[in-house]
Formats: sequence, C-alpha cells, structure tokens
Amino acid sequence: RQQIVKLTTGCAGFDAILGGGIETGMLTEVFGEFRSGKTQVCHTLAVTSQLPVEQGGAEGRVAWIDSEGTFRPERITKIAERFGLDAEQVLENIAHARAYNVEHQTELLVQAASMMVEARFALLIVDSVTALYRSEYQGRGQLADRQGHLCQFLRKLQRMADEFGIAVVYTNQVVATVDPMAVFRGGEDKKPIGGHIMAHASQTRLYLKKGKGQNRVAKIYDSPSMPDNIDAKFAITENGVSD
Ligand code: ATP
Ligand code: MG
Repeated sequence: RQQIVKLTTGCAGFDAILGGGIETGMLTEVFGEFRSGKTQVCHTLAVTSQLPVEQGGAEGRVAWIDSEGTFRPERITKIAERFGLDAEQVLENIAHARAYNVEHQTELLVQAASMMVEARFALLIVDSVTALYRSEYQGRGQLADRQGHLCQFLRKLQRMADEFGIAVVYTNQVVATVDPMAVFRGGEDKKPIGGHIMAHASQTRLYLKKGKGQNRVAKIYDSPSMPDNIDAKFAITENGVSD
C-alpha cells in the first residue's frame, strides 16, 4: 500500500481541521452553495499536489474532470507563481477534460485510469460530481436509477484512489433540507446532494460557506472520526486559497 500524503489547501487553518491536509488514497467531498469556493479549492489543490512532499504536495500529475466548464488555466498560472512553480509545467501536468453527460463522465474516468498506469498522478478532481446527474435524472421516478449509477461512479473513484494512491476530490451542490431535526445539528438548512450513497462514499466531507467578501468558512461535516462543528476561516484570493 502506498504511503498516505497530505496535500495542503493553501491555508494553514484549513489544513489543520483536515488533520494536515487532503489525504491521498481517500475520497474528499467539497460541497456548498454557488460561489462558496469549491472550484477555487480545486484550482489550488491542482497546483499544490505538484509540490514536493516537504512543501505539502505529492509530486504528481492531476486529472481534472470538468462537468461545468469552470476550469481556468489563468487561475492555475497565478497559483503556480505563488508557490514558486513553473506555470507552464504545472499546466502541462494537468489533464483537463470537459464531461458532457453522465456516460461521458464515466468514460473519462476509464481514460484517466489508463493515464495513471503510465505516469505518476497525485490527484483526481471531479468538479462537479453530481451536476450531470441532476440534469439527466430529473423527478422522483428516476431517483433510484440516479442513486444506483452515482454509487457505481463513486465506487470507481474509490478503486482508483486505492489502486493509484491518488487523492480524489469532488465537488457537490446543496439543496434545502426539510429535515426538522436539522436545527439541532447547528441550524443547517442545507444538505449535500446524493443522500446516503454520497455520505458513505466520502471519507471526508467539507462544507464551504460564504462570508464577507473573499472570506469563507470550511467545516468538517458528519465525520465519524473527527468532532463535528470544527471549522476554519480561509480566503479566496487571486493566488488561490489562503489564510
Ligand atoms: P459553483 O457552485 O457556482 O460552482 P463554487 O463553489 O465553485 O460555485 P467558486 O467558483 O470556487 O465557487 O468561487 C467563486 C468565488 O471565487 C467568486 O465569488 C470570487 O469571490 C472568488 N474568485 C474567483 N476568482 C477570483 C480571483 N481571481 N481573485 C479573487 N477571488 C476570486
Ligand atoms: Mg464551481
């Protein structure tokens, strides 16, 4: 088994609530409202994962499956400069592909896996993992099918995390919850998409929330091994996630 490496988020407090950073070999879900910073966290990790281990990286390439068309090379360039990396090289090390439907998204995983056989990868990003599911499986009648397919997809991600020792980070949206007990769990009125399937697949669940301006809060959600309600403040800057 590969050794677990922790990837820095670019913010010390954020890393601290994760016990050091985003772990390789694990599935990490990043969810929150629109503009809460999910895609910016992905951009930052796509750079930091390429850093030497002593600097919070895993010295590997990145595969990025993009279902919303929000990958921005110019963001990567800025973040690479911040970490003293050669921006061109960093971009070259990111295999980005746009996913257009659920079948295509699944096919891209297979392609990513064959790349991982050939070269050393540190991170796989799926931003967002659920968006295409939401648009293709609408209505109550399709919920079981959606969950079944999503479950298969998440299993494939876990297999890749195990086989290649990569960190898998995927983003997810929130929906309003009607759970009357929610108020006792800290007043949350939003919950991530994907129900139990998502809850069981994600080893770490991060809830991002908007603050004033560039300020954001990251919170560990529903962890079996870490105390609930521990959170960290971070900022989204031109140079990615920071203190
Ligand atoms: P969605 O659900 O729509 O995908 P998201 O959670 O992925 O949203 P992001 O795109 O990561 O949200 O974050 C958007 C926010 O990031 C913007 O509101 C803006 O405040 C901030 N942001 C983006 N680019 C920059 C930049 N170059 N400099 C500073 N802040 C930026
Ligand atoms: Mg986004």
